[in-house]
Amino acid sequence: MTTTARAQITVTGHVQKDAWLRREMPPVELVRPGLWSIPVIFPNNPLRYVNVYVIEVPGGVVLVDAGWPVDEAWANLNDGLTSIGYDITDVDGVLVTHNHADHLGLAGRIRDASGAWVAMHRLDAEDISAQIDPAKMQMRGESWLIRAGVELADMPSLVVDAGQFVQFTPPQADRLIEDGERPLPGAPAIRALWTPGHSPGHLCFIDDERNLLMSGDHLLPRISPHISVHPGEEGDPLGTYLNTLNSLRGMNDLEVLPAHEYRFSGVDARVDQMNEHHEDRLTEVLNAINDKPGSTTYEISSHLTWSHGWENTQGMLRRAAMGETLAHIVHLVSRGLIHNEQIDGRLYEGQMVRTDAWFATAV
Ligand SMILES: [Zn+2]
Ligand SMILES: [Zn+2]
Repeated sequence: MTTTARAQITVTGHVQKDAWLRREMPPVELVRPGLWSIPVIFPNNPLRYVNVYVIEVPGGVVLVDAGWPVDEAWANLNDGLTSIGYDITDVDGVLVTHNHADHLGLAGRIRDASGAWVAMHRLDAEDISAQIDPAKMQMRGESWLIRAGVELADMPSLVVDAGQFVQFTPPQADRLIEDGERPLPGAPAIRALWTPGHSPGHLCFIDDERNLLMSGDHLLPRISPHISVHPGEEGDPLGTYLNTLNSLRGMNDLEVLPAHEYRFSGVDARVDQMNEHHEDRLTEVLNAINDKPGSTTYEISSHLTWSHGWENTQGMLRRAAMGETLAHIVHLVSRGLIHNEQIDGRLYEGQMVRTDAWFATAV
């Protein structure tokens, strides 16, 4: 019997990886002529920093992503631009891979300082508009928790104030970018690739001349991006993610420039690893449902393995874990392996509410 050696990724950002292992911020690097990476701090987060990419265009620069909205990250960005001979006022525009605060956070401040445009996919721009109404956010969150079957005693720790979701006022987009668009007339080799899953409007940017894939959070060398069914969201985000992940196959000649961690090559190997990770998790969720048919999302979550254990996964982390579990459940439904029979059962603020109960489908 022969075993095939599994293909591995090749780390190309050696300086970044060394800094990662030493738990330090990596330096500003020239990745290719006219294209740099500037790491900006992501405080109180295990990801530690966001890689902002700087692309030279006639008369200035365009950024891919903007960093977390705090003064320290702003200082990192300004110092980084100065070190490569530019100033924040030279920024013409910000291409935002997706609307999470570690990518979009500083975009409004950059626009105020330089008059830059802010561009993103329409679906992430629309999602920002929805997030701006705190009451709506909170209400959506509570009904989501009830449907997931959260125990009443656990409710207070999981209902979060809308202010905790949006830690800044997200800037509205000045420009919307569609799949396949080449958004920079001064740098026509840059092409947008719509890769929904981690967010509905997630974009990667491919540089066809320099053979680069700026992958945002879609493809990272070490961790898997968080895929969740968020309150108020419809559809099968994990199925969407797996489709757009697999659409990257064959891009092995591109160096991947992720928004976190370090640069690498070997897209196909990383795509294989991500598929395997999610298939394992789908099997684990299906087994949990087979063991206890009629379980709620909350009950299923509590039976899965978590890196710090379910008991130590509390507050926002527990909420995120449930969102991730629900993404796997919904994907099992779309594969026809389980189904939902809503049950009466929770009394919430004087009202009996229905909860999702998941059953394996007899085949
Ligand atoms: Zn993200
Ligand atoms: Zn991120």
